[in-house]
Amino acid sequence: MLELHPSQIQMGREAVDKQQALALLAENLVADGLVAAGYLDGMQARERQGSTYLGQGIAIPHGTPETRDQVFETGMRLIQFPEGVDWGEGQRVYLAIAIAARSDEHLHLLQLLTRALGEGDLSQALREAVDAEAILALLQGAAPELALDAQLVNLSVQADDLDELTWQGARLLKKAGCAGAGYAANLVQAEPLPLGNGLWWLSSEQGVERPGLAFVTPAQPLQRGDQPVAGLFCLACLGEGHRQVLERLCDLLIAGQGDMLTQATTSRSVLEALGAELPADWPSLRITLANAHGLHARPAKTLSEIAQGFDGEVRVRLADGAETTVSAKSLSKLLALGARRGQVLEFSADPAIAEQALPAIEAAVRAGLGEDVEPLPEQVENAAEPVAESPTKETVVAPVAGSRVHAVAASPGIASGPAFVRRMPKLDYPELGEGVAAERQRLNEALQHIDGEIQRLVERSEEASIREIFVTHQAMLRDPALREDVDARLANGASAQAAWIGEIEAAAAQQESLHDALLAERAADLRDVGRRVLAHLCGVEAPQEPVEPYILVMGEVGPSDVASLDRQRVAGIVTARGGATAHSAIIARALGIPCVVGAGESLLLLEQSTALLLDGDRGQLWVQPDQATLDQAERERQASEQRRERAHGERLQPAHTRDGHAVEVAVNIGASGEAAGAVELGAEAVGLLRTELVFMNHGQAPDVATQEAEYRRVFDALQGRPLVVRTLDVGGDKPLPYWPMPEEENPFLGVRGIRLILQRPDIMETQLRALLQAAEGRPLRIMFPMVGQVEEWRTAREMVDKLRQEIPLSDLQLGIMIEVPSAALLAPVLAREVDFFSIGTNDLTQYTLAIDRGHPTLSAQADGLHPSVLRLIGMTVEAAHAEGKWVGVCGELAADMLAVPLLVGLGVDELSVAARSIPLVKARVRELDLQHCQAQARQALLLPSATAVRALVEEAK
Ligand code: PEP
Ligand code: MG
Repeated sequence: MLELHPSQIQMGREAVDKQQALALLAENLVADGLVAAGYLDGMQARERQGSTYLGQGIAIPHGTPETRDQVFETGMRLIQFPEGVDWGEGQRVYLAIAIAARSDEHLHLLQLLTRALGEGDLSQALREAVDAEAILALLQGAAPELALDAQLVNLSVQADDLDELTWQGARLLKKAGCAGAGYAANLVQAEPLPLGNGLWWLSSEQGVERPGLAFVTPAQPLQRGDQPVAGLFCLACLGEGHRQVLERLCDLLIAGQGDMLTQATTSRSVLEALGAELPADWPSLRITLANAHGLHARPAKTLSEIAQGFDGEVRVRLADGAETTVSAKSLSKLLALGARRGQVLEFSADPAIAEQALPAIEAAVRAGLGEDVEPLPEQVENAAEPVAESPTKETVVAPVAGSRVHAVAASPGIASGPAFVRRMPKLDYPELGEGVAAERQRLNEALQHIDGEIQRLVERSEEASIREIFVTHQAMLRDPALREDVDARLANGASAQAAWIGEIEAAAAQQESLHDALLAERAADLRDVGRRVLAHLCGVEAPQEPVEPYILVMGEVGPSDVASLDRQRVAGIVTARGGATAHSAIIARALGIPCVVGAGESLLLLEQSTALLLDGDRGQLWVQPDQATLDQAERERQASEQRRERAHGERLQPAHTRDGHAVEVAVNIGASGEAAGAVELGAEAVGLLRTELVFMNHGQAPDVATQEAEYRRVFDALQGRPLVVRTLDVGGDKPLPYWPMPEEENPFLGVRGIRLILQRPDIMETQLRALLQAAEGRPLRIMFPMVGQVEEWRTAREMVDKLRQEIPLSDLQLGIMIEVPSAALLAPVLAREVDFFSIGTNDLTQYTLAIDRGHPTLSAQADGLHPSVLRLIGMTVEAAHAEGKWVGVCGELAADMLAVPLLVGLGVDELSVAARSIPLVKARVRELDLQHCQAQARQALLLPSATAVRALVEEAK
């Protein structure tokens, strides 16, 4: 709904012309502190570029991109002009809505507004409205249309009873954006209404976001009591939009034609029977929108004008959206799509005009609809279609003999051998199937086959981390929700291949859209599974690998590719794309296969068997290296192998410096199942349990019992060793799907970590309760993320204190993460109150250096060895030790071999690192001398840059 208030609306004003109206509007915006006076220039300039007349007597004047810096606060101010103002081009405006917006919020406001407008003409009513409330009612009151289209119909679904059928109906409504939290639960509680002919009706108003009607039929006949169940309507009830369909349905039943619904084999016939919008069989085309600010008013207006030039209907929808199609002739409908740059628009046109209209629209959209547009990166442009890798682009050439390629280090070690370049075969398949039953059977067979293949991988995997990834892959294959969605596509006539990969792509894209690294990795896994099934359906077998040990070269390696490789024959892996945190990289590390990723597309052009040498520690690759380079690499490989073996042999020994100073080496884990393996690798504690995964693995916030079981598993694996748990750290850049949060312009500086969790004390309390209950006398350390203010810590501590009275605990410490410079600077105050600090150097570095840790070009400079970060670490340790408290470091810096001596020298008591790094970190500590480290740390603090600090430590090695 529009966030409008009557106080933002001025009634009964007059303006002789548009200029005067704009001046009045700007005056209001300035008076309310939304903009600076210069914004009026922007509003005038914007009108000169093109009228902001929206339709229905409404104009939406706003500034230009150049005057965005004049905006202090996003908002709107409205003026009613009962006499009307000439807005040019023969349009009269009775309500002007001045928008102050700094970026794309503008688009969002428009989307909200135009959704509210509906189809009728409001101009007369706006003109005659007597008070601001009446204007508000007009803007907000238009009844939204009932959604009823192909995606809301699912025929022959697997269900054992009416309840299951109800869940399926509710799912469709949820997917279509009609129903939200609470809808399904409420619907199953409702009393179903028998309509006759085996048809049933269920309705709920709870959790409804927009009105919609779903229709589902069961695959096998069902009964409820003594009555048959042959079809179920589920209504997401809001307003009166469903009345017309309901009347039509009654007519059908009275005419004895209910069979048209229960016997329907296609969603089209259901929609036809109900008089709903039919899935258009019209010619269509998809275009990716490249306009920087999406389909905002100006390009939308241009598009609507082009569509209006054709004597027939042109419709458009967001290809990845849940929305039904809208008329491309309607400016308000186009704006209501809220299309953003990079989103794919699907246009369809009446066959009578399609041949002229679609190419014209395509050309206009590609040309920017009157705006200058930056071309889209290639993968976005092509995202709508599955593409085979094309290593034949003219501009890309294979690296020449003797060249060195810089890439991202993903798995340590040095390897050499002939290249085996695996190019992805193009998978061709028909879009339409040969009947639902046949396609369903083919798909089921393929799913079973791949499930069996993955099962063999699970059984073959010696590493727990790999097994877990494949078990996850199996869960994805078996996911009933995914299968239902695929089934819906099959029911709509898609082939098994198109239905399967279409749904996989949609699910993966949705996870990626959440902009969270963990979820993005899941998207890669989903695509990996999807590709295996698709290849099988297309009858394409994996290429045969060579017999001798080789370097595998691929565009992107899926986890299953890596794990299905024979370790004895794969000496190393190079990928053209991908990052170091992908699951494939994790698996390569677990298998001990040296790997570099992101080496560039040119690699795919290498001749088979080209000699390669790769260094997985430095992220480098040599093409046809000379003998001297090979010899040097071999010497390094042997030395590092020996180091690794020695470190592994001593992994269970404590880490003491040569002069006897003990440093605890703990592990960072993200899932309860990882703890046992980490102990086996020498972990002396869990120094950071990131609890996000526990929450992300569930469709809703996990309850006490679920969480308790997870935490108990970690305690059990630790066998008395301490467990440091970080309370839920989400928000901003890593949202939870079931915890909707408003988009923030600057998520890293927004509501995340403790700031967010304090807004939901119920979730925090559940987590704390589960932790306390799971501990049962075992050493529990709880820490809170992103603390920047002393009050945040105190509020959190009070919550624990309250629970402690209920669940007494013998060995509990409470601490905070030092991730924000303000906390490090305030450490002397905080140290008096906390039991410990754990320094999250990943965030502390980004906030100290003001470099987004995920920034594509700057993040390499976000080096935790910057003297400014080291100073904050030093201050924190000093403050803690003065109060007799301990300090850990749990960011990636703790596993950086050059950082270890400095952290030890600064007095850090505990280093918490990824499991695989434990033996090496312990070995590094054992090489050190505390006094020497202290002297080196003092020196480092005086240096000007991270590079200088690295040089200092490197020199002393
Ligand atoms: C950190 O910021 O260093 C940290 C350990 O937390 P995360 O990487 O999970 O944000
Ligand atoms: Mg952090």
